[in-house]
Amino acid sequence: MLARHQDPIVAIATAPGRGAVGIVRVSGRGLDALVQAVCGRTLKPREATYLPFRDAQGQAIDQGLALYFPGPHSYTGEDVLELQAHGGPVVLQLLLARCLEAGAATDPATGQPNLRGLRVAQPGEFTERAFLNDKIDLAQAEAIADLIDASTEAAARSASRSLTGAFSAEIHGLRDALIHLRMLVEATLDFPEEEIDFLRKADAHGQLSNLQQTLASVMQRARQGALLREGIKVVIAGQPNAGKSSLLNALAGAELAIVTPIAGTTRDKVQQTIQIEGVPLHIIDTAGLRDSEDEVERIGIARAWDEIAGADAVLFLHDLERADAPEYIAGDADIANAMAQKMPKSIPVIDVWNKLDRAPGAAAAAGENARPGVHLSARTGEGLDGLRRLLLEVAGWQSAPEGLYIARARHVEALQAVGAHLQEAADQLQAQGPALDLLAEELRLAQNALSAITGEFSSDDLLGVIFSSFCIGK
Ligand code: GDP
Repeated sequence: MLARHQDPIVAIATAPGRGAVGIVRVSGRGLDALVQAVCGRTLKPREATYLPFRDAQGQAIDQGLALYFPGPHSYTGEDVLELQAHGGPVVLQLLLARCLEAGAATDPATGQPNLRGLRVAQPGEFTERAFLNDKIDLAQAEAIADLIDASTEAAARSASRSLTGAFSAEIHGLRDALIHLRMLVEATLDFPEEEIDFLRKADAHGQLSNLQQTLASVMQRARQGALLREGIKVVIAGQPNAGKSSLLNALAGAELAIVTPIAGTTRDKVQQTIQIEGVPLHIIDTAGLRDSEDEVERIGIARAWDEIAGADAVLFLHDLERADAPEYIAGDADIANAMAQKMPKSIPVIDVWNKLDRAPGAAAAAGENARPGVHLSARTGEGLDGLRRLLLEVAGWQSAPEGLYIARARHVEALQAVGAHLQEAADQLQAQGPALDLLAEELRLAQNALSAITGEFSSDDLLGVIFSSFCIGK
């Protein structure tokens, strides 16, 4: 454990801004002297006490509830003090400063600081402590962040399932089966004469193929869970007035959309998020991607095309009212050219023929098309369901959200690695004269990949990446 994991920490745990209640939270080992200094008394464990929070002169900063959770029965596994004050930014800042000051001040009883080394927590540090102190595993810690960040109800529900350990339990089940098989194989390494017979009798092959089946099912659900969390990226292309914004609004308006822009970088400018059946769709409008003389804008546009290269689908919007006009046809050809030059061929393109209400016979007259396509009216909503189905199909969405747990791309990749090692192991097992040491090694690697999900073996770098994305005070 790094030294910083030993420091006592403090943070405002509630969101910035004004609110009815605001919480300041302290975690560390041995909080008694700090509790005495700030609350002016000792606190009963896990009992709410209404009292004044005092400054160094003994004046009340605010009145509120103090809660004390002695470790290990706390969120972090350390001693935790929670001060629930009035939720104004100034009050909470004062309370935070008071905790830091009281931590550094000398305890008259011992002549030592009340809480040596108390500092403001980094993002996610309380949850990181919970992980390091074995209160939760890494997948559960990630689920906490995912629950807080959930942009749809389905994502929130599945994050909640992961948080209760549903996903971790599946991973542990796989791990136990894997350990069982490893013990079998490792045992045979010690008795090489009978090895093959021994493995056959113990049905190593059957065990391995059961493992592969279970893994496939977990992987399938993890993929769906990752889809709920991460969504898909859809590029929407089409000439001005083809109906891009109208289509976006029609798709967004159909469900009670909790629209959350993806935070960060320049892509904010071109990206909007809507949802279909709870799956987030990050829609990038290509309106901003015209040729430009402006150097800065050109860099931005080049970046946007780089982003688009990672898209999952393109909606190519056409205006049925103008579909026969030579100018319009030429304009569509320009867009098709730009896409062909700048986008990988692997990204599926869906032709969307809009304004069907103005060209009622168009859908029937359409005939066979090489690409998937749909006729619709963004205005009347006719045909929208067809587009939604197509988008979900492209995304690979299969299940209803019940019973799903949230997962991350990191988990899906780890499961893929497990699958690859199990396949190698299966190939070894089936080979004429299998190399049992190689088989044993593949199983060991498979177990390592699995353990990375729950964090049994995880580097400090990985922890840094995961916890730094949390909010402060969590
Ligand atoms: P954008 O420039 O591609 O974003 O196109 P807009 O969404 O702004 O739409 C351009 C015009 O077409 C607006 O006047 C819309 O009201 C109209 N429009 C969009 N979709 C439809 C449709 O399905 N039917 C009809 N009749 N008009 C539409």
